[in-house]
Amino acid sequence: AIPLVVAVSTTMAAKNGLLIRNRTAFENARKIDTILFDKTGTLTEGEFGVEAVVSFGEDYSKEDILRHAASLEQESEHPIARGIIKKAKSDELDLLKVKDFAIMKGKGVKAKISDTEFKAVSPGYLTENEIEVPADALKEGPFTEVFILKSGQLIGLVRLADQIRESSYQVVKKLKDKGIKVKMLTGDNQKTAQYVSNELGLNDFFAEVLPDQKQKKVAELQENGAFVAMTGDGVNDAPALAKADIGIAIGSGTDVAAETADIILVESDPLDVLKLIEFGGLTFKKMV
Ligand code: ADP
Ligand code: MG
Repeated sequence: AIPLVVAVSTTMAAKNGLLIRNRTAFENARKIDTILFDKTGTLTEGEFGVEAVVSFGEDYSKEDILRHAASLEQESEHPIARGIIKKAKSDELDLLKVKDFAIMKGKGVKAKISDTEFKAVSPGYLTENEIEVPADALKEGPFTEVFILKSGQLIGLVRLADQIRESSYQVVKKLKDKGIKVKMLTGDNQKTAQYVSNELGLNDFFAEVLPDQKQKKVAELQENGAFVAMTGDGVNDAPALAKADIGIAIGSGTDVAAETADIILVESDPLDVLKLIEFGGLTFKKMV
């Protein structure tokens, strides 16, 4: 009878937006006491629009900054890259030829444009390399700033805005009502993370975390006795999804995340995590 009951629940789950890849994990959903969410593409839409372009010198116009940024991002699939390229296209900018493109994981990208090295990087990268972040560069709100460097010199920035998903507000509130701790892990900067955390009323957040650090954060919580679910969409979330007691992928996310996760939220709605907790509990009750 046990497999039958599980099957019924699995079907119910499927009807409610949950694709179960690992039944044991599904049944363990009742044990969750801490849920970690990735920020970009999970708690937020992950669709960036360009809000502003700033040039720091006389050598490059705003248009030049955007053109260089978009040229650099041509081979990146990051949501930031998609936002920048979309803006350059709508402005009908001709992109420049790049070579030696490389991703700097969780920090940005670099490539050569007519033999000069250009980079598009996070504020964390600037701090790490002792490049001064210009005053007022980091605007309060759901913004992500990408800094453009030419041979290591700061020449401009592109400010992008992402939106918090409507249902993120509800899922955080309801999980907290159930006594579950809700925390966020993000590769994005401290200021943006703080904003999103305040907006949603999270219990805690960790910003500027690189992919292997996301995994370490999960391990740390587990060592302190937490039963951890991790929800994410990106390649950078995969190690943490694998490490978590329950790995949950956003359906619209990357294949790597989906293949690593125990459960996939097929509607890409973080709110469906609540259904996971309900149905996981249901299976358990019937089985006892
Ligand atoms: P998240 O955890 O929010 O999904 P990532 O780990 O993918 O974020 O990226 C962390 C940070 O690295 C981004 O917020 C951004 O500042 C920088 N970054 C990553 N990819 C790119 C890119 N293609 N272009 C510019 N900056 C990038
Ligand atoms: Mg993400």
